[in-house]
Amino acid sequence: MMQNLVFYETIKTEKSLMYAFRNGGRQGDETTPSVRQKIEKKAGEDEALFCKSCSNRITHRDQTISVSGSHTHTFFNPDGIVFELGCFRNAPGCLPAGEVTSEFTWFSGHVWCFALCRVCGVHLGWHYEMGESVFLGLILARLRE
Ligand SMILES: [Zn+2]
Repeated sequence: MMQNLVFYETIKTEKSLMYAFRNGGRQGDETTPSVRQKIEKKAGEDEALFCKSCSNRITHRDQTISVSGSHTHTFFNPDGIVFELGCFRNAPGCLPAGEVTSEFTWFSGHVWCFALCRVCGVHLGWHYEMGESVFLGLILARLRE
């Protein structure tokens, strides 16, 4: 290592300095995964989900949670309409609406109300609550990336 440092100090031109650093980087292989993680995290910042109707930003993939062992759930409402829901910890683009009820709840023990798009008012899913536990079940077909 000391030999390398001495070697770097003797390099005069920028071009050869860059070459030396690139070669030096190979010795520190353990730094590569953390660099990759940073890049992936940065890419993840763009994974927002938007209202399909008005493009209001609803939530983000980092709010994804698992409820009863799964992020997505498929349900039928009392009219027989099928919904594929994704569960999210938080969805700032949604507005809870309507009276809170436990009727026809899809998640045992949870009460619910509607979750509407804060901007255009379209029905995006449901807001669920059980004591301190709060989450949103959003209709995936009504969101876009
Ligand atoms: Zn909307």
